[in-house]
Amino acid sequence: MITVPHYGSDAIAGTSQGKHNGADAEEAARRLSQRLLAIVEGCAEETFVVEPGSWRFQLVNRQARESLGYHAADFRHLSLTDIIPGFSAAHLDIIHQKMCQATPPELDLESFFQRMNGSTYSVRLRMRLLTGEPALVVVSASDITETTRAETIIQRQALYDTVTSLPNRTLFHDRLRRTLEGHGAELDGGAVLLISIDNLAFVNDGIGPAAADELVREVAGRLSNAVRVRDTVARLSDTEFAVLTVHLEQQQDAAALAERILTDLRKPVSLTNYQVVVPAVIGISTFPQDGTDADTLLSNAHAALQGAREDAAINYRFFTCALNTLVKNRVAINSGLSGAMERREFSLVYQPKVDIASWQILGVEALLRWRNFDLGAVPPDQFVPVLERTGLISEVGSWVLETACRQRRILKDAGFDKVRMAVNLSVKQVRRDFLGTLAAVLVNTGLTPADIELEITESVIVRDGQAAVGLLREIAAMGIHISMDDFGCGYSSLSHLRRLPLETIKIDRSFINDIASDADDAEIVKAIISMGHALRHRVVAEGVETVQQLAALRRMGCDEIQGYLFSPPVSGEELLTLLANAEDAPA
Ligand code: C2E
Ligand code: MG
Ligand code: MG
Repeated sequence: MITVPHYGSDAIAGTSQGKHNGADAEEAARRLSQRLLAIVEGCAEETFVVEPGSWRFQLVNRQARESLGYHAADFRHLSLTDIIPGFSAAHLDIIHQKMCQATPPELDLESFFQRMNGSTYSVRLRMRLLTGEPALVVVSASDITETTRAETIIQRQALYDTVTSLPNRTLFHDRLRRTLEGHGAELDGGAVLLISIDNLAFVNDGIGPAAADELVREVAGRLSNAVRVRDTVARLSDTEFAVLTVHLEQQQDAAALAERILTDLRKPVSLTNYQVVVPAVIGISTFPQDGTDADTLLSNAHAALQGAREDAAINYRFFTCALNTLVKNRVAINSGLSGAMERREFSLVYQPKVDIASWQILGVEALLRWRNFDLGAVPPDQFVPVLERTGLISEVGSWVLETACRQRRILKDAGFDKVRMAVNLSVKQVRRDFLGTLAAVLVNTGLTPADIELEITESVIVRDGQAAVGLLREIAAMGIHISMDDFGCGYSSLSHLRRLPLETIKIDRSFINDIASDADDAEIVKAIISMGHALRHRVVAEGVETVQQLAALRRMGCDEIQGYLFSPPVSGEELLTLLANAEDAPA
């Protein structure tokens, strides 16, 4: 019974009224039904009458037709599911059952309608079941798009900072709480960094509030760029930002992040007609060490921030005292390294790699040393990361390459033709301009590509996958050997090994340490060796110190060893003596 288009006709049968006789009663019922239809038709709410089960339309009023963009006749071919894409017939049947059980038999819902042109709008629905024969469902709908939008805006204002769109204090606190709760007993390491910026009041008063907002947005952008995707950046108050960083392997990583942020913030911000710098200080609390609940961590980060404000020498501080010594050290290393090249504070030492079967020296690895007047000898594990962060690594790395190649030239001239010179290559050096440096050094020192080898770590490929692989393939195509350093302690991915043009893999010395006593380490080393051989790579064990380790590695079929057992790293002159003695010694 499609009655929709025939408003004003006999769409709904009226009931007979006792005081009328025959034709009069019928006429009265017809007029009543016309009036009822007119009332529904003129209703401000979108109103539909549908048949439960088929959910086809029996009646659709003007407001509904206009909102949905259909003509009255279109509804003959449609059912309720066509305009509520979120509901299938099965959904509607469940709603029908619920209405049957409810008193009065009605239900309120929120969903969205789809117009004829495909666009949608949010609606609040009241569905009322009219029992009897036939049963009908009256659906009245009101458009709540504006209300929903307003609610969203209010919600955003409650949780986000309006200037930067970053989470505000409430949301940050909530995220921190959830992170801490979510991890339970196996709480992964992480940190809260509170960053306090200066100069905002100066910009606000001196240039104007619009410029101050621009400055704050720039700071927000730089902070967001400095962190990883899974970290949270928030604005807690006018001048205070916060970062929640998770899954830290070591607490020092939080120091590296703080330094990165401070370096980024140090670059001047261009505001209309002005260049402004944004001095900042950072307070850090780490978890689980400094607390396992949000309030404690925030208050400890505050205490650290206060400490950073008071200490003119450094601009970030940890809550934990021991870590502050580390910070001071890093600051000293940072300043010590600037000018270290000019002061000729760097040198190289060389450590042999020997064939496990013939005990012949097949190559040497050049290792960088730094001796500073104030700091003394600083281990490379402490200063190489700083060189990388400050960008000094490309200059120092080129110097290492050139010095190592000159040493290789000396060895060659002394008749040691087969000893390949290996140089460690930082991830930051794997850039296109390195090819030029490499070619120039080879020409200048009169070496062939086969004379040298580059040691890379997996971070090269993890960081800048495709481009790095392409560049390394070009280097390998020149005839230069490439080896994977420290294998086993990084991502140790088989797919990395297959993608890279490697000759050799070097097993990290942490596995070699206990190889003779720890069955797990022995199994890992065995697996790395057989995997390396399956991929036709030579396998070198790093850090071999004892004959027991050597014996175990021999049994496992390792090809070469490097370590104190044969020789520690030695100076260039000592290396010549070592090579001469090794040549004289019986195999
Ligand atoms: P690496 O490339 O894995 O170098 C091997 C490290 O193991 C060296 O430490 C070496 O002195 C040490 N080693 C060698 N044999 C033994 C042993 O039997 N027992 C023990 N306990 N240690 C042994 P070093 O010289 O402190 O270098 C540490 C790391 O610093 C290097 O690890 C490398 O990643 C980096 N590095 C050193 N020189 C350079 C360089 O010129 N450029 C770059 N980018 N990184 C460098
Ligand atoms: Mg190395
Ligand atoms: Mg290594």
